[in-house]
Amino acid sequence: MSGAVVVDGLNGRSNPFMKLDQGDKIQAYYMWVDGSGENLRGKTRTLDSVPDSPDDLPWWNFDGSSTNQSLGTNSDVLLKPVAIFKDPFRGGDNILVLCETYGPDDEPHPTNPRHECIENMEKAAELEPWFGIEQEYTLFDAHNKEVYCWPRYGFPGPQGPYYCGIGADRIKGRKVVEAHYRACLYAGVMIGGSNAEVMPSQWEYQVGPCSGVDMGDHLWVSRYILHRVAEEFNVCVSLDPKPIDGDWNGAGCHTNVSTKPMREEGGMEHIMVAIEKMEAKHKEHIEAYDPSGGKDNARRLTGAHETASINEFSYGVAHRGASIRIPRSVEKDGYGYLEDRRPSSNMDPYVVCNRIIKTIAIDED
Ligand code: ADP
Ligand code: MN
Ligand code: MN
Ligand code: MN
Ligand code: MN
Repeated sequence: MSGAVVVDGLNGRSNPFMKLDQGDKIQAYYMWVDGSGENLRGKTRTLDSVPDSPDDLPWWNFDGSSTNQSLGTNSDVLLKPVAIFKDPFRGGDNILVLCETYGPDDEPHPTNPRHECIENMEKAAELEPWFGIEQEYTLFDAHNKEVYCWPRYGFPGPQGPYYCGIGADRIKGRKVVEAHYRACLYAGVMIGGSNAEVMPSQWEYQVGPCSGVDMGDHLWVSRYILHRVAEEFNVCVSLDPKPIDGDWNGAGCHTNVSTKPMREEGGMEHIMVAIEKMEAKHKEHIEAYDPSGGKDNARRLTGAHETASINEFSYGVAHRGASIRIPRSVEKDGYGYLEDRRPSSNMDPYVVCNRIIKTIAIDED
């Protein structure tokens, strides 16, 4: 179990059985996205040896009638291993295996958007697209009913002191955040940073820059690790884009994107062309930016709380109330990347990155 991190719960408990020798077998946790398009499922199998690549791993299957992915009469959905990460919960040689879902005819399952994402990333390969996603989320209590550590009656003090804050009166759940960050580094997930958010018990971490479909792989595995770490601490993670109505910030997944020409001298011209193309497809993008075709984001993209209205496209330098923001540093350099602020916290990164690359690089619908 070298390098194993067995997370202690908030009560200081750990599981002594995890220290037992596992012999020469390894455990592989196969995970996939279920029919909701936002929840992860997974199950474990024993392997005799450590695989060199996903191609060395056996395909597997699960009961799709229990995950909203098939009918009971023809229930097997197949799991195709596509990416391997180290398992920060079991440690040692144990692994996390991200899978794509396939139907009985060996065709990509209708709930598997990774497949189309890869196809389009390959078409756009010479542009070398990079993505970086800022995942915002909210911690809830173990019953997933109340925001973690919010007062039982009434509300915390108004927003203001919490963003990037310190102190026990401003910060709730930092142990979860720190454990998640370290566990992502251990696993090999390209986590880039983290910060406390504007609403108390709301947090953000960034993943990337990642090239092409890797963005989706790394974000999904980072989400698995987040839910699992939170489970150890007996709290829940909500990716609802507007968990609390009223004067409380929602949660998004700002998606930063660049192509090679955007990253080079004179790149601003390419950034502006991409923004114009995205403006023409605003509606299609909104439909792809949450798992409910825009309904989830309608609660969040109100025009208040650092968002732009869902009905209007806008952009601006350093403008956090715009659909698309050009970071100040990018304007200063004249090249770099753009930030699409519209995707909701529960979006599917394969769907979002695919939509963006179709619009800016493939010019078809
Ligand atoms: P902010 O909160 O100011 O919007 P963050 O620091 O939270 O910004 O996130 C910046 C994101 O931009 C990170 O996910 C990072 O990976 C991503 N990023 C940086 N450079 C590029 C680039 N050239 N192409 C795509 N994404 C990038
Ligand atoms: Mn069974
Ligand atoms: Mn950020
Ligand atoms: Mn943020
Ligand atoms: Mn941002």
